[in-house]
Amino acid sequence: MNVILLEHPRSYGEDRCNDIANAPLSACLNTGYIGGMLAANNVEVTIVDGYLEKLDYPAIEAEIAKIRPTVLGIHLVYHWEDNKTLYQFIERIKATYGIAYVCVYGFYPTFAYEEILNRCPAIDAALLGETELIFLKLVEDFPTVPDAGIAKRTANGIVATRGEVVMDVDSLPFPLRSKGSYSFGEVNISGSRGCYGGCTFCYINPYYGDIKRKWRGRSPENIIAEIDAVMKETDIRYFYFMDPNFYGPGQAGKDRVLKLASLLKERHINFGIEARANDIEDETIQVLVDAGLKHILIGLESGRDEALKRLNKLTTVADNEQALQILRKHGIEPSVGFIMFEPDSTLEDLKVNYDFLKRNALLDKLEISVNVLYHHMIILQGSSSYKALQEQGRLNISKHSTYEADTDYLNPKVAMLAGMLRDMTNHIFSYMKDTWELSFKKDPVIMEKYRLINNLLVQSFEDYLNLLKNEAITVEKRNKYVSIFNATVDGIMA
Ligand code: SF4
Repeated sequence: MNVILLEHPRSYGEDRCNDIANAPLSACLNTGYIGGMLAANNVEVTIVDGYLEKLDYPAIEAEIAKIRPTVLGIHLVYHWEDNKTLYQFIERIKATYGIAYVCVYGFYPTFAYEEILNRCPAIDAALLGETELIFLKLVEDFPTVPDAGIAKRTANGIVATRGEVVMDVDSLPFPLRSKGSYSFGEVNISGSRGCYGGCTFCYINPYYGDIKRKWRGRSPENIIAEIDAVMKETDIRYFYFMDPNFYGPGQAGKDRVLKLASLLKERHINFGIEARANDIEDETIQVLVDAGLKHILIGLESGRDEALKRLNKLTTVADNEQALQILRKHGIEPSVGFIMFEPDSTLEDLKVNYDFLKRNALLDKLEISVNVLYHHMIILQGSSSYKALQEQGRLNISKHSTYEADTDYLNPKVAMLAGMLRDMTNHIFSYMKDTWELSFKKDPVIMEKYRLINNLLVQSFEDYLNLLKNEAITVEKRNKYVSIFNATVDGIMA
């Protein structure tokens, strides 16, 4: 038995360049973990990383021709279109190289298996949720295909049944890392799975299915053993914990972080984490910074308590402000997740959000403003907001996929401002993608241009918000404002 695990090439349309949620970061080790599980059970497995190693389809085909796998597993990632190129590729290589079984896994297949199996007959099954155990069973029993943990075609149509998840995550073999894993200057590592929260826009927990213990953490010793093993393989000394929620719940979660920090400190490495605002407190941040913490992403999401409640964030504005203050006290400027526009936003919500961002110095840099002033709530299959909006008859499913949807804003003025900001920030992004390298190096010319554009963007947001409060703007006027804004950006960047 010979298995290839494929990360397929990904493409992004210009107009979706700032839409972040096609696959959560926590999916980035899906393939590695399956690979680790298969290798530990003596299955011959090769990872072909078309994404991180930037392989095109002919290069991927050459690998497949060389190995001629019996089973091809593909981490299928939604990239805002219908995956036609990939599906045609699968059809062709399956027939050409006599591949016996093709299965897909990841967030997209877990929720949208039906359309995927309908669109691509060459895909035999979609594995659902956590896939190490089910993939191993598939390979060990082949050609018998398991019934649980899988969505497959049967005489009764497509049948999907959830399988087992690993409650003791220390029992998992370490992920297999291909050369792509070391290609971007840092090493991704998973310290835990799931989240004890339950935000309406998030599908991290639904991905794992209906399990009692939502957050499953590895022991500090087990994490450190993997870090030690990785440090023997590479000179990279920056690790990024891709856990959706680095902290476990309650005192036990805090104690675990303290223990992990003491072990990390002995490794003399740097690392980044993602966390909830309510978990940020002095003691753990102090020890994490001492141990090498450099970056943190916190999902603030809103500057208004009513909106945080609607999002079921289980945090308050006070938690958000305290988290910012503690992190800054310890020298960490966090990256923040923020949803400026959500389906039920009012103009007052936007104003309160804007004041929150300003008050907390989150509108001082273009790289941050361009994100926080624009982000709208992305509604993906699996999230509770998708379900709730569907039940309310408010869900507009994308023509590309059931996986992606949006909804009409309750307030037409909010809808107008969201559309304007989208057009304006996309225009800014079209420049930023080419000048990012220079800004990263703090080139003074580009920094000055970014400063001017930032001032323009922040002021424009405030001006258009005030305007909309007082009058309705016609579509012609809206288009004119956006054109003037974009032309001014062109002038600054010229
Ligand atoms: S805090 Fe919310 S958004 Fe973040 S992982 Fe948990 S449920 Fe998802």
